[in-house]
Amino acid sequence: MSESRKEKVCDGEGAVTSTRGACAPQIEISRPLAELDWIPRPRLLALRRLGIETVEDLLTHFPRRHEDRHQFPHFPREESDVPICLCGEVVKTSVRRFGGWKKIFEATLEESSSNALSEPLVCRWFNLHYVQKMIATGQRLVVFGKPRLRGKRICMDHPEFEVIENDEEISIHFRRITPIYPATEGLSQRVLRSIIYRLLNEVSGAPLETLLPTDLATGERCHAIRAIHFPESWEARDAAREHLVLSEFFAMQMLIASRRSDSSIRMGDAHCGPGTLLDKFLEALPFQLTGAQSKVIAEIQRDLAARHPMNRLLQGDVGSGKTVVAIAAMLLAVEAGYQAAFMAPTQTLAEQHYDVLRRWLEPLGVRLALRTAARQEDNAPLPLFARGEIPGSARVSRVGDGVAPSRTFLDVEPADSAFYSRRRLPHFEKPWAIYAVTISTKSRRCLSPNARTIVLDAFRHFHGKRYELFAVCVMPDHVHLLIQPWPKENDDAGNVVFWPLSGLIHSIKSFSTHKINRVERKSGTLWEKERFDRYVRSDRDLEEKFHYILRNPWETGVAGQNEDYPWLWTQNNEARNQRLFRRDAETNTRDACATQAGAGDGAPHIIIGTHALLYEKVSFSNLGLVVIDEQHKFGVAQRARLTAREPAPDVLVMTATPIPRTLTMTVYGDLDVSVIDEMPRNRGKVITAVRDVSKLGEVLSFLRGQLETGRQLYVIYPLIDESEKLDVKAASAEYELWRERLHPYRCELLHGRIPAAEKQNTMERFRRGETNALISTTVIEVGVDVPNATVMLVENAERFGLAQLHQLRGRIGRGEHKSYCILLTSEQSRETSAKLAVLERTNNGFEVAEADWDLRGPGDLLGTAQSGLPALKIGNLKTDAGLMRRARAAAMSIFQADPRLELPENQRFRRLIVEQQGRTFSNIS
Ligand code: ADP
Ligand code: MG
Repeated sequence: MSESRKEKVCDGEGAVTSTRGACAPQIEISRPLAELDWIPRPRLLALRRLGIETVEDLLTHFPRRHEDRHQFPHFPREESDVPICLCGEVVKTSVRRFGGWKKIFEATLEESSSNALSEPLVCRWFNLHYVQKMIATGQRLVVFGKPRLRGKRICMDHPEFEVIENDEEISIHFRRITPIYPATEGLSQRVLRSIIYRLLNEVSGAPLETLLPTDLATGERCHAIRAIHFPESWEARDAAREHLVLSEFFAMQMLIASRRSDSSIRMGDAHCGPGTLLDKFLEALPFQLTGAQSKVIAEIQRDLAARHPMNRLLQGDVGSGKTVVAIAAMLLAVEAGYQAAFMAPTQTLAEQHYDVLRRWLEPLGVRLALRTAARQEDNAPLPLFARGEIPGSARVSRVGDGVAPSRTFLDVEPADSAFYSRRRLPHFEKPWAIYAVTISTKSRRCLSPNARTIVLDAFRHFHGKRYELFAVCVMPDHVHLLIQPWPKENDDAGNVVFWPLSGLIHSIKSFSTHKINRVERKSGTLWEKERFDRYVRSDRDLEEKFHYILRNPWETGVAGQNEDYPWLWTQNNEARNQRLFRRDAETNTRDACATQAGAGDGAPHIIIGTHALLYEKVSFSNLGLVVIDEQHKFGVAQRARLTAREPAPDVLVMTATPIPRTLTMTVYGDLDVSVIDEMPRNRGKVITAVRDVSKLGEVLSFLRGQLETGRQLYVIYPLIDESEKLDVKAASAEYELWRERLHPYRCELLHGRIPAAEKQNTMERFRRGETNALISTTVIEVGVDVPNATVMLVENAERFGLAQLHQLRGRIGRGEHKSYCILLTSEQSRETSAKLAVLERTNNGFEVAEADWDLRGPGDLLGTAQSGLPALKIGNLKTDAGLMRRARAAAMSIFQADPRLELPENQRFRRLIVEQQGRTFSNIS
């Protein structure tokens, strides 16, 4: 019997191979599916919703799993935790009601070769009306799920299922190892499988080029693609998968290696002084460096002394003493005659660093400056509109062949003649016109900070290539922009053709939707139909809109008065910041420059600021080293801005958010990595305990006991995203509650919407010990250092992620006293307990990160979204770590032997890298 099955399978496979030769026209893999005339339009649309547009997209739409449909196991008599695949005939269907109007649909299946001992299987679906329409008695079903014992019956709840129809295509779906694809709306497994089957038949092997070094994997890509969809055996499937995963990883590692190699072959200057200043600093420190700190400083010293730019990541748990290491590095650079920049993700943190550095470095005569992006500069004229300069003159020169641009800015028309408010984008498009466009999110969906960065980057991508952007502001639920499309080409008659605005915006929208949905694991449309505010006709018009956009985050209260709003971009940032900085340096008392004599004589040695410093250009006369604190808040794109400078500075990025070691080689693969894996010795232990809210009484008396002994306390309440509109009322209610609970100890309230100056005062009072308890959102998350604060209570701890809780916990345990972190939760689910138990078990950030990864599964991990790497289609960063190591080694060795990829045999890899770069931004066309 199994013999005959085998034959059938071979028939099927034979069909695949034999038609290949006969198939007349060769299909290019880049060809749009729409050009193959046999895929019906509704199917094409369904595929497009999945992002599948070309032949290659479809061929690399890999199965999620496979089912062995050669021979099905007998129906089980016991339950099991492992899902199984069964086949049977529907002998009965019924609908039962429960709980009033809810329905259960049941289909009873019997084995085809049943015997006296076999048990029927009951498949059940709750409230899924469409299933009822799809299943009828007499049909044969393949089901996949976990069998469960319910009463005396063996049941499968909500199994995946497929109806087997006896059509001529049976050989595709049945009697073979059958692929099961990721679920898709509007496209059944059968249909998708048939389309892919036919496509494999039609496409010849040739265009599927194998781009792998032979020592990494054998075999051909075209065979692997065939076998991943319709494998002849499990071994063939595994081999195919390994080949494809290796290809994917290899391509990714080639991109990483090329980034690495780009910077290592660039020649810069050595930025390392003799170390006398460093020694003085270390002598004056009130403590000894830990072994790990010394080791890392030595590594950095070596990098600084080398002539190629340093690109180093420093990972170290919260409180492990990264700041001292950063200072050491900066002193070496300063001593060599260079400036250093120290960037922190928030203003508070920048100010704190400034204080610490002042304390330690002023006595050594080092000149410091603090530079944060306060934005009172808006009343100054912007360079864009500076007198005597025709905005757009730069653009005129780009027109090229004698086509006059409409002199947009020179003929000043009255602004009110240009009123197109709240209309759809115009069907006409004026050459050289500037448009003010507003795009809202669908149902006012709130964009997370991460998502906003994606949107901003998307808009910036083609700036200077397909259009000129004057300003973009990505607000939580809408985007404002000022944009001017550029010429694309000349048509046959020699007229200039412009990039169509609606097309540009459409592709940015679809790109960002795709990317954000992937990161946030959501689906559906993100944006409303774009509307445009107006079509800008005069200087005044432009200026007005420009200022409106620039002020938007502050006018609407989304950003606090002195707060930076990172999702606002203008092309003049550089120039503006530069001017601001000079003004600050001249007049601002906060920018304490020199501390000793000779104050007048020079630029600061070390400039501390938020990431607005990234956009500084000229204010650094002589930048030698950049230190970025808390790297995970910066993306690759931002880092690239720094490393692209000429001459290239050395770059040290620091993070307290460790990621699993296997991920480091990917997410931070282009960096050298140093780790501080040792805590300073004088640290008190941190004890973490999870408590149910019902125990609040006991917890409170413990807290009061601690306050009595003079310790201080943080209470964290879960407003997870600071940009979420904070219900001020709720916050104050929270605060009142805690004031009562802790009476007579002094409490203060801290959250993101409190103006920065006030926030700072509150922190200062807490630091001095005048306040006993701080009731706070996660604004205190990063870097805050108050050694006497030894107790932290986190409310609704289940709402935070593990990494975030670990970060929060890093605020305590900074002095010699024993510290306590109490995680209060009202949720008793298994996942929550497992999650919080990790923190009870370990204080080691790496272990927390590993556990976090295990618990969350292979999803997106912090940082991968910002890594600027293409998304994986088949590989799994966790389970395929071994393959990643092999791919990385292969890529590294290619670049080691040929850093510029000049050898003829390496030419094919160049294309691979370009393609990868394209894929990181592939949906904009
Ligand atoms: P993080 O790695 O989280 O940035 P910090 O650099 O802020 O940690 O250091 C935390 C605290 O530990 C600071 O108060 C710092 O002065 C102190 N510290 C740093 N190194 C040592 C050391 N070797 N011994 C004792 N205390 C140290
Ligand atoms: Mg720090």
